[in-house]
Amino acid sequence: MADQLIRGTAAEGGIRAVGAITTRLTEEARQRHQLSYVASAALGRTMVSGLLMASSMKRPGSRVNIRVKGDGPLGGILVDAGLDGTVRGYVENSAIELPPNGQGKLDVGGAVGSGYLYVVRDIGYGYPYSSTVELVSGEIGDDVTNYLVRSEQTPSALIVGVFVDKSGVTAAGGLLLQILPKAARDDALVEKLESRVSALTGFTPLLQAGKTLPEIFQDLLGDMNLSIFPETQMLRFHCGCSFDRVLGALKMLGEDELQDMIVKDDGAEATCDFCGTVYQANKDHLSQLIFDLQAESSAT
Ligand SMILES: [Zn+2]
Repeated sequence: MADQLIRGTAAEGGIRAVGAITTRLTEEARQRHQLSYVASAALGRTMVSGLLMASSMKRPGSRVNIRVKGDGPLGGILVDAGLDGTVRGYVENSAIELPPNGQGKLDVGGAVGSGYLYVVRDIGYGYPYSSTVELVSGEIGDDVTNYLVRSEQTPSALIVGVFVDKSGVTAAGGLLLQILPKAARDDALVEKLESRVSALTGFTPLLQAGKTLPEIFQDLLGDMNLSIFPETQMLRFHCGCSFDRVLGALKMLGEDELQDMIVKDDGAEATCDFCGTVYQANKDHLSQLIFDLQAESSAT
């Protein structure tokens, strides 16, 4: 099934529901960054969290950046997700592998360790809104839920999952259910939702059982006046980097540094952290940058 996101409401608009399938884009990230099993799970969970969080933003161009900084062997995780359904991201140490945890699952919490979760919401104008919370478990789902409840004060249930084996990522996605302010004092509703979500054993088993997103919504919220929005949004891994941007960054190094690169290395090579694309600037490109810098400085 193609990567996609659907939205809905239930309980007379008191519950907002968003579901996403991200299997292909998680597999693309795995291949681009040569991620280990545990790194695939950690990055995949963070990417779907970002997409689910970005889905409630209003203004075109809005994006969510999630940075997970733990003291575990994985190092940091960085994800950039947009309301437009694009996402990119990477982990610091993509190759580390850990034995399964006590429940026989990939030990994402052990790989991440303890530390902080940073979220920046860029709402498309003015200053971005940013906030930090301590990591709860490093398992990502718990950590993002804690962020939504503590920092954004929205009662939320988030389930994210990635299933990866030697054939790659075969199921990934997540579900975000939030109680909106009009229903926040409805304790019975909050309890009902919590008990249904805690009855789920995870998100990927639902996909593996062949369930579609509307069927998952129906199972969870079907008796609560569920309404699913008609449009299905496509999701994809996408990075906005380009050769021109790389040249712009090289130009900022200045004339002496560029001259040095021409003499010593016969050019320059730059790799985009987010998508792994390698850009090669040859000595002609670098000479042109020096020429541009000289023209600019003589013009002022
Ligand atoms: Zn890139």
